[in-house]
Amino acid sequence: MDNFRFQALAMAMSRQKIRVETVGQRISEYFGCNVFNEEAMRKFLSAEAYLSIRNSIETGSKIERSIADQVAASMQAWAISKGATHFTHWFQPLTGSTAEKHDTFFMLTGSKGIESFSGDALVQQESDASSFPSGGIRSTFEARGYTAWDPSSPAFIMEIDSGKTLCIPTIFVSYNGEALDYKAPLLKSIHMLSSAALNVCHYFDKHVNRVYPTLGWEQEYFLLDEALFYARPDLLATGRTLIGHASARGHQLDFHYFGSIPERIYACMLELEYESFKLGIPLKTRHNEVAPGQFECAPIFEEMNLSVDHNQLFMDLLERIAIRHKLRVLLHEKPFMGINGSGKHCNWSLATDTGRNLLAPGTTPRKNLLFLTFFINIIKAVHEYADLLMASCASAGNEYRLGSNEAPPPIISVFIGSHLTRVLDEIEERVHKGAIDEGTDIRMEIHKMIPDLMKDNTDRNRTSPFAFTGNKFELRIAGASTNCALPMTVLNTIVGNQLRLFKEEVDSLREETEEKKDAAILQVLKRYIDESKKVLFEGDNYSEEWKEEAKKRGLSNLATAPEALDMLASKKYRAVFTANEVLSVKELNARYDILLEQYNQRFQTESRILEDIILNQVLPAALQYQKRMAETLLSLQQLGMKREAESQQALFTKLSEHIMALKEETIQMAEEAKSLDALSPRERAEAYSRRIRSRFEKIRHHADRLELLVDDALWPLPKYRELLFIR
Ligand code: ADP
Ligand code: MG
Repeated sequence: MDNFRFQALAMAMSRQKIRVETVGQRISEYFGCNVFNEEAMRKFLSAEAYLSIRNSIETGSKIERSIADQVAASMQAWAISKGATHFTHWFQPLTGSTAEKHDTFFMLTGSKGIESFSGDALVQQESDASSFPSGGIRSTFEARGYTAWDPSSPAFIMEIDSGKTLCIPTIFVSYNGEALDYKAPLLKSIHMLSSAALNVCHYFDKHVNRVYPTLGWEQEYFLLDEALFYARPDLLATGRTLIGHASARGHQLDFHYFGSIPERIYACMLELEYESFKLGIPLKTRHNEVAPGQFECAPIFEEMNLSVDHNQLFMDLLERIAIRHKLRVLLHEKPFMGINGSGKHCNWSLATDTGRNLLAPGTTPRKNLLFLTFFINIIKAVHEYADLLMASCASAGNEYRLGSNEAPPPIISVFIGSHLTRVLDEIEERVHKGAIDEGTDIRMEIHKMIPDLMKDNTDRNRTSPFAFTGNKFELRIAGASTNCALPMTVLNTIVGNQLRLFKEEVDSLREETEEKKDAAILQVLKRYIDESKKVLFEGDNYSEEWKEEAKKRGLSNLATAPEALDMLASKKYRAVFTANEVLSVKELNARYDILLEQYNQRFQTESRILEDIILNQVLPAALQYQKRMAETLLSLQQLGMKREAESQQALFTKLSEHIMALKEETIQMAEEAKSLDALSPRERAEAYSRRIRSRFEKIRHHADRLELLVDDALWPLPKYRELLFIR
């Protein structure tokens, strides 16, 4: 019988495209049809309940109990009209994925039953928290956790075949109210930032009633055939290939990027989009990415909390719909060595209820001073708290991706383009203490410099980890599998904190010296430019020179995930979370412990799988081939074919050397990995990130040499060319 690889190849190559029935309607006709959205709410809710929800969305205010009962009844009526039989609180525990526990609407009344859904069931559910990571928050005697309704993200119906479930987005907290999830702190950070930004906004425009952060993510992922995926134990268990020689055809030719989308993939994307649209996820673009087998899609940006939920939901859909098409999705940040990995760019901005994007340059001097105020405060915040941004994106997967010539290195810098650099230089030069009453003048002049600045006019720098792209900032260090809530919570918090301080400084300057408002604002901004200049960088972030330069400037280079994670628990950075009531020390430490533990578990699994693959698959194949080679060698010698025997001998020696080295390295690695159990989690992480990782590389070197030497017919694992090019 063929080995598993050849069976998988035969299956993969005989696949037929699966037809997708995406009714030939316009998207606008079914968009959001499975969401309890504005339209559904207007139809099913009383005016009182509707206004109460709107108010809660805008101000974060609580919804009264009597209203909750009304909402529950209407939501149930809507869900049942759509064919839903079950409901669930849908939440985002610190595992990184989403969680749900379904209940039926059904209730037994005597021998018959009815459908029922109360305000109680909508607002809060008790859930056994003991199976979710809590990082020591939950004590053993108090395993209860609670999920609580988040009215700012609308309920939706998840359809799986004929099963339909009403999903209610919720936060997840412990008995004592500590956050056990990603959403609760995100919501706190959004409210904190909103109020700080509103106060600053009021310097310029009293008509604004609400400011809120917006997010537009760009999700990269790989798709490969399911059979090939199952034939690779490393992909199955860890989401990445631990060994595998680069294919002769990589992505050097760039034939894939923006190329025509392969048919099977296209069918999968169609269905994915269809399901996303029904759930109100406003997907906008889809295309091939740089690497073969890699794709990307991006939605229209939305209010942040909703956008984060949509990304989580999207990743879930991606996994499920790919399987329907006999494909598997890889969200790992670096599934293939030598091939670009997958990130999740987070485009971030601030919007007002009056319809303005605060990061879009304006049309009047006043509006442009407002733009610059936010712009410079953001740079200042990132300068001060770059380490926290890095920490928020740190993981075992992302560690392989960052800094490998396809993604920014783990050094945070800000790109703003040559145009805005000149504007900042101008402010720095013109605003000095003596000249402060010239504030209005300077404002005019700066304004004159800005109108040229159109969105498409900003030079693009694809290598920057945090780039201004015309009317938003783009954070490019987040990994593909990450819940973007954590990096967004950090960004909101540090910017909100900075805006709060800014307001205090400007106000006190005005009190002390009776400065005119704009002059005082410019004065403080000028100082911020001075103080945070060193984080600005316009050049190539992937270059060696930048690493040198960054070192000279004193910027952090947090090369490994454990080093970056340390920042989350460090005293230096705690205050920004605690002072703004986003996360308590206990909650921060819990996140640190959990992320570190996840890091260690990843490496532990990888070391076990690698040992298994090498000892049970690679070495047996290599030994079989070695035996065959030895026989050939022997017969050549017996036949007296001297030259042929010599050349066979050379190959045989090479093969044997790699076999021996591979066996030795693997055994040593496995022993060392086992010996780490006695260490503390942080020490283990250190050992994994340096020692074990370099052992992985050695093992890989020999295994990949063997892949080139051993008869293709004996090789047990699908090769890169097969994983990446068969679709
Ligand atoms: P690219 O970066 O590929 O050139 P775009 O600039 O058009 O593409 O946008 C990329 C992403 O940025 C999209 O997900 C989009 O929704 C998002 N985006 C655009 N404007 C904003 C904004 N004001 N706030 C947040 N995200 C935004
Ligand atoms: Mg982009």
